[in-house]
Amino acid sequence: MHDNLDYSMRGVTIEYTTLKKTDLKISRIGIGTNKVGGAIYYDHTDPSQGKNFVKEAIWNGINFIDTADMYTDGRSEKLLGEVLQEIEQKREDIVLATKGAIEKLPDGTTRINNKPAYLRSALEASLKRLNQDYIDLYYLHFPDDKTPISESVGELSQIKEEGKIKAIGVSNLSIEQLKEANKVAEISTFQFGYNMLDRTAEQEILPYCVENNISFIPYFPLASGILSGKYSILSTFDDGDPRQKRFKGDDARKKFEIATKLKDFAATKGINLPQLALAWLLAQNGVDAVIPGGRRPEQAQSNAKTIDITLSLDDLKTIESILD
Ligand code: NAP
Repeated sequence: MHDNLDYSMRGVTIEYTTLKKTDLKISRIGIGTNKVGGAIYYDHTDPSQGKNFVKEAIWNGINFIDTADMYTDGRSEKLLGEVLQEIEQKREDIVLATKGAIEKLPDGTTRINNKPAYLRSALEASLKRLNQDYIDLYYLHFPDDKTPISESVGELSQIKEEGKIKAIGVSNLSIEQLKEANKVAEISTFQFGYNMLDRTAEQEILPYCVENNISFIPYFPLASGILSGKYSILSTFDDGDPRQKRFKGDDARKKFEIATKLKDFAATKGINLPQLALAWLLAQNGVDAVIPGGRRPEQAQSNAKTIDITLSLDDLKTIESILD
C-alpha cells in the first residue's frame, strides 16, 4: 500500500503514500507549522529557527507540509514561501497544504466565514503569502454552521477546476457535515484531532474515512506536547499560550500519568515518546500521514526517524493496556 523511496539526504528512508483521490505522493511523516513564523501564542519562536525546522524536515525526506492562513497571523505561510525559494528541492516534490475560513476583521477580531466569495479571497491571499501559483491541498478549516457545506466545498471544487488547488480537504466538520461535503465534492482529506490520549475519532470519523477513501490526517498527534515527554502538570506557560489551560485540571493530570507510562515503555524500545506516539498513529488503519508540529530542527529530525520504527502486535497490545 505504501511506497518506500530513498529520498533522504540525511540517511532516513521516508515512507510515502498517495493522498486519496490524487496522484500526490506524501511522506507519511509530515510537519505542522502552526508555531513557525513567530507571532500569536508562540512569540518566542524565532522565525529563523522556524525556517530551520522546516528545512531540516525537508532534508530528512519530509515533503508533506501543513499550514493555515491564520497560523502566526499569516507569517507561517510567508516563511514557507521563503523556504520554498531557498531550498533545492523542486516545487513538484513538495506537497503544500493550507487552510482558510477564519476571517480577520478590521478591529483585529476573527470570525469563521465559509461563504464561497470569502473562501476564494482567502485562497488568493494564501497564494500571495506563499508566493505560489497553486496549492496542493486546500482545506476548509472550520465550519461556520451557517453557510451550507455544499456551497463552500462547491466553490473549492470550482477553484480546483481552475487549477489553483490540486485537492480538497476539510477539517473540524461533524460526521454529518463531512458526509454532506463528500456528496458534492471530491474530498481527499479530513483533518481532525486524534492521538493516543484522545481517541474520539475512532468512533465514527476514522471508519467513515476508511470506507469512503478519504485520507485521515490527525492533528495534535503529540496531544499538543503532552506526548512530547518534556512537560508535566506542573509546567507553566506564557499568558495567551493555549497550553496554560490545556495542561491543567484533572483530565490533563490523568493524561500526564499515562504519558509517563508510555515514555517508560518507549525507553524499553530505545525510542522516545514522540516517536512512539507517531508510530502508533501510523499503525492505525486510515491514518495516511501525521503532521507533528514543532519549532526546532532537532524535533523535525527526531520525528522523521519514526519511519524506521515498527510496532509489533505485542507492542500494540502493551500500549493498549496502558491506554485502557
Ligand atoms: P502536536 O503536534 O500535538 O504537538 C507539537 C508540540 O510537541 C511541539 O510544539 C513541541 O513542543 C512538541 N514536540 C514535537 N516534536 C517533538 C520532539 N521530537 N521532541 C520533543 N517535543 C516535541 O500539536 P500541534 O503542533 O498543535 O499540531 C500539529 C499540527 O496540526 C499543527 O502544527 C498544525 O499544522 C495542525 N493543526 C491543525 C488544526 C486544525 O484545526 N485543522 C488544529 C491544530 C493543529 P514545543 O513547541 O514546546 O517544543
